[in-house]
Amino acid sequence: MLDCAIVGGGPAGLTAGLYATRGGLKNVTMFEMGMPGGQITQSSEIENYPGFFDHTKTGMDFMDTWQEQCFHFGLKHEMKKVERVAKTGEHFTITLEGGEQVEAKTAIVCTGSVPKRAGFKGEDEFFGKGVSTCATCDGFFYKDKPVTVVGGGDTALEEAFYLSNICSDVYVVHRRDEFRATPQTLDRVMRKENIHLITDSVIEEAFGDTMGLAGVKIRNVKTNEIIQMDNTGLFVFVGHDVNNSVLRDENDKFICEMNDWGQVIVDLSMKTSIPGLYTAGDMRIEAPKQVVSAAGDGSVAALQVISYIQEQQ
Ligand SMILES: Cc1cc2nc3c(=O)[nH]c(=O)nc-3n(C[C@H](O)[C@H](O)[C@H](O)COP(=O)(O)OP(=O)(O)OC[C@H]3O[C@@H](n4cnc5c(N)ncnc54)[C@H](O)[C@@H]3O)c2cc1C
Repeated sequence: MLDCAIVGGGPAGLTAGLYATRGGLKNVTMFEMGMPGGQITQSSEIENYPGFFDHTKTGMDFMDTWQEQCFHFGLKHEMKKVERVAKTGEHFTITLEGGEQVEAKTAIVCTGSVPKRAGFKGEDEFFGKGVSTCATCDGFFYKDKPVTVVGGGDTALEEAFYLSNICSDVYVVHRRDEFRATPQTLDRVMRKENIHLITDSVIEEAFGDTMGLAGVKIRNVKTNEIIQMDNTGLFVFVGHDVNNSVLRDENDKFICEMNDWGQVIVDLSMKTSIPGLYTAGDMRIEAPKQVVSAAGDGSVAALQVISYIQEQQ
């Protein structure tokens, strides 16, 4: 029986593992279906993690030492996909791909989320090299430069507003002539002089070379006219898919309380509605979707696990 099963080996899962093992738990296993590190390993650079400031290092380099540090303190890693986490009596049953089952006293689920792609040419090629899904992460790289934003919902317009305080101009490309965002958000955006709304339009292509994104082509869906913007960053905000499938039971129902967007409802201790089950990082409600906050969540969840196990003894 594991003291704690951690599902997902991104910043949240690794930090949970570090705190759980250094906090005295003997039997902690992190199940990560790939190499540990999470989403940030796709990034060519990270500039906003305090204490790490090296432009020559990628997100992969940044995460390299995390696992080494965690494994040093006794965290075990199984490179396996988790199919399901279920509460069985007082404990949890973790079902792995292939059917193997592992019992655990507690579980911390940190399977993250995946930003949705808009599906235009060049999006995948330049993802993390000029095409971004995070204004907080990458906005500063375009200080005093123009950027293009894709999307028409609240997130897209709020992120456009955030970018407008850093960048020279923000061009918001939306395929319809009306925005889904709340009227207040739209009003705030329309009053900002350096935000320009380009409606009835889509990104036709993101282009560049080995150095990264060089510009975008924008097509008006009514006239088919194409305009080209050079030297722009491209931010795509068309939603997130939360990796929450491990929290569904055999009837496809969630085992803990979730909100309408499929994010796990937790309190400030990362407790879910099920005793002994915690989540951390991008998959929880109101997650800032940053490495530093995912790591913070992981530490909180692990400390709660330690207290929970002590209380049960
Ligand atoms: C290109 C890019 C650039 C970014 N830049 C920055 C930045 O500059 N600064 C910043 O702070 N943040 C940045 N972010 C955001 C940051 O990476 C995330 O907020 C952070 O990684 C979230 O951590 P997490 O541990 O919650 O989830 P993730 O990092 O998503 O990790 C989840 C892990 O769970 C694993 N997993 C999922 N399902 C299963 C399963 N069923 N079984 C086993 N394992 C599973 C996945 O393989 C993954 O490794 C960036 C993200 C991207 C994509």
